[in-house]
Amino acid sequence: MNVLVLNSGSSSLKFQLIATDLGRITENKDERLCRGQVEQIGGEAIVTVHTRSGTRQKSTASLFDISRSLEYLVRWIASDESEIMEVRSPSDIHAVGHRVVHGGELFTESTVITDEVLKGIEECIDLAPLHNPNNIKGILASRQVFGPKLPQVAVFDTSFHHSIPEHAYLYALPYHLYKRHHIRRYGFHGTSHRYVADRYRALRAVTEEQTHIITLHLGNGCSATAIRGGRSVDTSMGMTPLEGLVMGTRSGDIDPAVVNLIARKEGLSTHEVDALLNNQSGLLGISGLTNDMRVLLQESRDQDHRRAQLAIEVFCYRARKYIGAFLACMGAADAIVFTGGIGENSPDIRARICNGLEWAGLRLDDSRNKRMVGLEGQISCDDSSLHAFVIPTDEELLIARDTVRCILSERSPRVEELRIQ
Ligand code: ADP
Repeated sequence: MNVLVLNSGSSSLKFQLIATDLGRITENKDERLCRGQVEQIGGEAIVTVHTRSGTRQKSTASLFDISRSLEYLVRWIASDESEIMEVRSPSDIHAVGHRVVHGGELFTESTVITDEVLKGIEECIDLAPLHNPNNIKGILASRQVFGPKLPQVAVFDTSFHHSIPEHAYLYALPYHLYKRHHIRRYGFHGTSHRYVADRYRALRAVTEEQTHIITLHLGNGCSATAIRGGRSVDTSMGMTPLEGLVMGTRSGDIDPAVVNLIARKEGLSTHEVDALLNNQSGLLGISGLTNDMRVLLQESRDQDHRRAQLAIEVFCYRARKYIGAFLACMGAADAIVFTGGIGENSPDIRARICNGLEWAGLRLDDSRNKRMVGLEGQISCDDSSLHAFVIPTDEELLIARDTVRCILSERSPRVEELRIQ
């Protein structure tokens, strides 16, 4: 099956075409046929595509909306330029899998998109006003380009976390706010945490029930998840992706009273403070330099840049604090798993996070840690009682696999039954 995976943003459309089926999933032999993105949709858009052989092609085109961008991409996929002989026309694409950011309490698993499901995704707009509307546009554009009969599947960032128990997802606010507005912890990056947990299981040859790990997704956005018996039991992101770890430009945890204080002292609206916490804080905010961890590491070494060092210290301290908290919540864990751009590529940051966790039985193997850059494997000593692993994430692959699995099982919940009273 050739599955087109789409991630629709406000002015961008990322895609991958993946050949997969149940046999390939079992054998881990899915094949990425091409990938790329359209950016600055709405005017002269920039199209970047990578062919199967790895060649990168960059061009510009006047693409005014997501539908036109998708049409353009599908034409390219079916052309000789893409080097994909299996796809000669749109009908050679057999399904579309969409990343959908928020499934609220309605969607606890990936689902085939029906009109009713689409309504459910619309209902979750309040919870993710910046993301769900774009995801919906991607779904409607696919219907337009491929016709209504092509199966489409929604894979939610939130659904892996539906197993988090009430005592971990409830905020200590007046309870009616939860009932009225569904204010609670939902968690995000679920596709990444789930993919990494699946790979860990395969690497260690353990069952789902035996999977007790803490996964750290450290990219531009960062989150930690406590996984017990293969299920998410707590996660650092909350109602929105702002809570928890220090991120590229997001603050993570702060005292909520600070919002009002900043608003008053700086003469900002709460909306503006929200933007400040999302876009001007985190690594960028502390360092005053950049949200790019590579640059911060370089500057802290070469220039002895004090605030770059400080940003890195706060980042690593917060991650270690969450690991400690999750170990306490879980009772025990077998491994910490690093993923995301920073987690996969920075031995330095991994070491700084793990140093100080010897009490928990974690002993990092320095040479394994240094070697493991963009690779998959163990970085702890063999006799550690708490291990550490690096597992590169692949959210698109999981979306393609879920698309196949959903279509074959025609899994689509009856939204009316799921709706919260
Ligand atoms: P996104 O969350 O946008 O998908 P990524 O997962 O690609 O982002 O992660 C981006 C982050 O990874 C950036 O802070 C970048 O500096 C960092 N990163 C990438 N490679 C390295 C590296 N070799 N060392 C340290 N940080 C790295």
